[in-house]
Amino acid sequence: MLQNKIWNQNTIKNGNKTLVLETIMNHSPISRASIADKTGLNKGTVSSQVSELLDEDLIYEQGPGKSSGGRKPVILLFNEVAGYSIGIDIGVNYIFGILTDLKGNICQEKSLTFNKLSFDEIKEKLFEIVDCLITSAPSSTYGIVGIGIGVPGATNKNGKVLLAPNLGWQNIDLKTIVENRYDCPVIIENEANAGAYGEKKFGTGVDDIIYVSIGVGIGVGLILNGDLYQGNDGFSGEMGHMTIQADGKTCRCGNDGCWELYASEQALINKADQFGLEMADENDILQEMVGMAEDGDQEAINLFKTIGDYMGVGLINIINSFNPQQVIIGNRITAAKKWVEQPLLEKVNKNALWFQQNHLEINFSELSGYTTALGVAAFSTENFFKIYKER
Ligand SMILES: [Zn+2]
Repeated sequence: MLQNKIWNQNTIKNGNKTLVLETIMNHSPISRASIADKTGLNKGTVSSQVSELLDEDLIYEQGPGKSSGGRKPVILLFNEVAGYSIGIDIGVNYIFGILTDLKGNICQEKSLTFNKLSFDEIKEKLFEIVDCLITSAPSSTYGIVGIGIGVPGATNKNGKVLLAPNLGWQNIDLKTIVENRYDCPVIIENEANAGAYGEKKFGTGVDDIIYVSIGVGIGVGLILNGDLYQGNDGFSGEMGHMTIQADGKTCRCGNDGCWELYASEQALINKADQFGLEMADENDILQEMVGMAEDGDQEAINLFKTIGDYMGVGLINIINSFNPQQVIIGNRITAAKKWVEQPLLEKVNKNALWFQQNHLEINFSELSGYTTALGVAAFSTENFFKIYKER
């Protein structure tokens, strides 16, 4: 009985501290009195929780703030440099990494490109980037609070990459491999899921976002009711393999007529021969075709328009299914926005259910190449605060 009571008291106490911390994070700078007003906690409780948070270096005092009369209050601020998070975006031919503070401000970035490397070779490059970001981090109370890695493939909730076809990876326990080298928590997430979260946190921030990542394949991240929807095992959003052509081409997934065969870089790669493009590296084809379209090559422009039209076909299915507030198109296809956007919008406008379009926005990502890295860095920071809450 007694134990139960103690446990309850501790839980409430910790809950209060988290509430006070979150209030400071969201409303900084803020006075103790305003925290009491906003949270409904009494002033004594706020004061004792603030003292603990000051001791833990998660907040700091600055004063005096504005007062409507009487003694001027000391204001409290969130100490976003109490620790740093690392976000890594592994692409088909690049690794891009950022170091952020606990608020998501980018402090350092590092990238490198490669062509057709084995997993072990890519792993060495990944370590190189992480080492570099760790070395660049200013000294802080909590140091590196976590490493988040976005991968273009199916990842389960235990941080295992089941399949990343464009990298040639299968059943790779990436989380354990990275954790064995670095003494901090590691989160592995599908790049489109991470991108969706990056858009939610650092983009417009609406609650129902469909993030469509189009590169060599298509991945979709779903933010539904404000949260990332991962599915039972973490495999949600494999909409690149949604059938849009019943008797269509066979996909490497085994299905026929998959969306990504028609609406991603694969559609360009499949036509490369016709354009006389013999690239040693398939990843260069998009750039080449963008260059040709820029030079006014009508066939290249038409191919992009066809891809835009097919992008619209898949989007109609997604919009009719989820009734999102915002669809954001990101990843490498944004380089061809100029030619794919209009046919895409026309297709959706013509064929999606009319009532789905009333409050719908379709945009191309404005976070450019940062979406996925920001998303996984934010996951890591949140994981740090979750562990902190559970202490
Ligand atoms: Zn497929």
